[in-house]
Amino acid sequence: MQISDRRLTDITRQILMKAGCEADEANTVAEHLVNANLKDHDSHGVGMLPHYVEYIEKGIMHPNTPARLIRDGGAVLQFCGDRGFGQRTGKEAMQAAIERVKTTGICLMTLSTSCHLGRIGTYGEMAADAGLVSIHFVNVNDLPPLVAPWGGFQARFGTNPICIAFPKGDRHPEFILDFATSIVALGKTRVAYLAGKKFDEPVMFDSLGNPTNDPRVMWEDEEPGALGPIAQHKGGGLIIAAEMLAGLLSGGGTIQPDNPRQGAIVNNMSTIVIDPANLVSMDWLRKEYDAMLDYVRSSASTENDGPILIAGEPERIAAQQRGANGITISAQEWQKIKDVGLALGVPEDALSW
Ligand code: NAD
Repeated sequence: MQISDRRLTDITRQILMKAGCEADEANTVAEHLVNANLKDHDSHGVGMLPHYVEYIEKGIMHPNTPARLIRDGGAVLQFCGDRGFGQRTGKEAMQAAIERVKTTGICLMTLSTSCHLGRIGTYGEMAADAGLVSIHFVNVNDLPPLVAPWGGFQARFGTNPICIAFPKGDRHPEFILDFATSIVALGKTRVAYLAGKKFDEPVMFDSLGNPTNDPRVMWEDEEPGALGPIAQHKGGGLIIAAEMLAGLLSGGGTIQPDNPRQGAIVNNMSTIVIDPANLVSMDWLRKEYDAMLDYVRSSASTENDGPILIAGEPERIAAQQRGANGITISAQEWQKIKDVGLALGVPEDALSW
C-alpha cells in the first residue's frame, strides 16, 4: 500500500487534532512522523499514532505541552518536557539551543521527561542545517526495559539512541549519524512483526537466552525477549553511556526499577551544540570535510556491498525515492492507524488514500 507523503501528513494531522493536539502541534508532530517514513525509518513514523493515542487516553501523555525552561545557565539550557509530545518539545528545545549558540559558541541542552522524541536525526538535521555540529544522547524510561547488556540476555535498557551531526561541505551533504544502541530499534521489530517477516540474522534473545531472528518474541511471548546491544562490548559501553548522560544530566532519571513506570515511552536527551566557526575557519572546514569524505569514498568496497555510503545518505536516497513513488505502509499497520482514526471520530473518507 503506497501513499504520498502529503496525503499521509494530512491524515496524520487530522488524527492528532482529534486526539487533542492544537493545529500547530499536530503539524509539527505529523511532519516529524512522515519525515521519518520518508527517510525509511518507519519504526518512528506514523505507525506510532496508535501508541500515542493510547497514552493520551490513559493520561500519561499530554498534548499541547511546550518545552519548559527550568534552568538558563548561559551555555547550559535545561528543559522539562512534562510528558508532552517529544516531536514538539524536542524541536522547541533545539531551537533554543541553536539560538543560544550564536552568543555562547557551545551549548549543553538537556530535555527531561518528554514523551517519545521520535527520530533523533531530526534534531541533528536542525543543527546541521544551521551550520552547527551536534551530539545527542538519549535514554528511555517509564517502560519496562527492552535491551540486554553486553554479556546478558535479560533486558536492562531502552534502545537509547545516539546521534552525531555535522554541517555540509561545499560538495558533500550533511553527515547525520543516528542510531539505536540496540542492534535493531524496537519499532523495526514491530514493523517486521506486523508484516510477518523475520530478520536476516539473530538480533534478539528469547526469554531463555536463545538468540533469534523472529520478532514474535518481542510481541507475542508471555515473557518477552530482549534486543541485543550493538557492537559487542563497545556497544554495551555506549548504551550505558547514553543512559548516564541522558538520564542523569537531564535529571529525568534512568530505567532502574526504583523509578516509577507508568507505561508511556518517555525520553530524556542531553545535547551538545557546537558552532565550529568559533574554533576554525569555515572555508577550511568545508574543504577539509569534503576532502576527507572523498577519501572515505575512494576505498574499494567489499565484494558483496554496494558503494560506500556516508551516514545520512541512505535517508536522503530513501526520501527522494519515497517522495517520488509514495510511502509503503503494511496493510496491518494501516488498519491499526485507521481504527484509531475512526474511533476518534475522523470521517472514513478523510482516511482514504
Ligand atoms: P539504522 O540501523 O538504520 O542506522 C541508521 C544510521 O546508520 C543512520 O545514520 C544511517 O545514515 C546510517 N547508515 C545506514 N546504512 C548505512 C550504510 N550502508 N553506510 C553508512 N551509513 C549507513 O537505525 P536504527 O538504529 O534502527 O535507528 C532508527 C531510528 O530510530 C533512528 O532515527 C533513531 O533516532 C530512532 N530511535 C529513537 C528512539 C527513541 O527512543 N526516541 C530509540 C531508538 C531509536
